[in-house]
Amino acid sequence: MARIVMKFGGTSVADLDRIKNVARHVKREVDAGHEVAVVVSAMSGKTNELVGWVQGTPKVVGANSPFYDAREYDAVVASGEQVTSGLLAIALQAMDINARSWQGWQIPIRADNAHGAARILEIDGADIIKRMGEGQVAVIAGFQGLGPDNRIATLGRGGSDTSAVAIAAAVKADRCDIYTDVDGVYTTDPRIVPQARRLKKIAFEEMLEMASLGAKVLQVRSVELAMVHKVRTFVRSSFEDPDAPGMGDLLNPPGTLICDEDEIVEQEVVTGIAYAKDEAQISLRRLADRPGVSAAIFGPLAESHINVDMIVQNISEDGSKTDMTFTVPSGDVEKAIKVLGENKEKIGYDVVQNESGLVKVSVIGIGMRSHAGVAATAFKALAEKGINIKAITTSEIKISILIDGPYAELAVRTLHSCYGLDKN
Ligand code: ADP
Ligand code: ASP
Ligand code: MG
Repeated sequence: MARIVMKFGGTSVADLDRIKNVARHVKREVDAGHEVAVVVSAMSGKTNELVGWVQGTPKVVGANSPFYDAREYDAVVASGEQVTSGLLAIALQAMDINARSWQGWQIPIRADNAHGAARILEIDGADIIKRMGEGQVAVIAGFQGLGPDNRIATLGRGGSDTSAVAIAAAVKADRCDIYTDVDGVYTTDPRIVPQARRLKKIAFEEMLEMASLGAKVLQVRSVELAMVHKVRTFVRSSFEDPDAPGMGDLLNPPGTLICDEDEIVEQEVVTGIAYAKDEAQISLRRLADRPGVSAAIFGPLAESHINVDMIVQNISEDGSKTDMTFTVPSGDVEKAIKVLGENKEKIGYDVVQNESGLVKVSVIGIGMRSHAGVAATAFKALAEKGINIKAITTSEIKISILIDGPYAELAVRTLHSCYGLDKN
């Protein structure tokens, strides 16, 4: 007997038929004698609809967010998961399985008060463990926790993955299965590159980079938690027949295992390619080239919660003036330019220019630590396709390249094949 946490994403619970199918996956594990907790997302499209409604409301003066009260945003957008948790509990009961739904506040899943992007602080797993021991399936609404202000706090988009891994850590589950609409983690988004290959295993560090650099198959925070708490996490498909052979395999279920790097025997140099759309580039022209300029630029941006990513500074010709270019999410450009404008005197620049609609493609692999020439291969392959590189950043296990938006898919496909990742 094992204790298993099963998470089902939006497309897996998109309608009543899919919810019934999810119930069959759960039944398989219950029938095998396992203790089961299930975490569900909202029906696909529901959270977007709820967010749209909130964004359509009039702006409130004096609220703790420039557009709307973030606590009310959370009250609205968390509701999608309340619906699916109840519906799945009903579907399980109809199959004669003892089940009940749990909202975040009922457990409780304690979170901080960063409404809209809250972090889980603590989960009291006692009640759920007790009920699971009595044979009851806990169906838990993902994406939500209880803030210190005693109000619902949501965990950021894609946050049900994090709910699942955090619950798995709290109840000391043997496994956390993230069921989604693809049958595992691929070398790149299989919807963009049909030649992408499914990975049998991927190291925590690589998955962390893949997720941070745009592969939305897992929320970044869920990978961090899995890594820290050593949660055995599988990514697998809810669309396969729940009773197909091997689906109930305890140690080697079908899908991709996220694990420590030493569990991976044949480590490739490059494991995967990720991409992130909607990047924007901001350039400050004719900046004074003196100590303190970077602090004067990036300090106020950070205080305004603007996430600066790639930074490029030119060497000045005569030692007096230079240019500085950096990237931010497209959605933050207006805010960033406003902040830079307010600090123009202090920073001391001439003009600010910006360009939106850029894409960052990234090459990821632990094997890069011990191999030279990985970046050069990418630059050559992109040059051969006539793709211009606007900025580059690297770390030990990744290379990120900023390019014009329209070249995104070509760049991803080019990099995928130049590192031999294409299947066959
Ligand atoms: P869910 O609703 O189940 O949480 P998501 O849409 O959040 O599902 O994540 C699954 C999607 O992630 C897939 O449909 C796929 O298009 C995308 N994806 C991006 N990169 C990858 C990758 N490297 N491997 C697998 N899927 C990926
Ligand atoms: N329903 C939420 C979202 O769409 C959480 C999730 O699906 O993981 O972001
Ligand atoms: Mg998701």
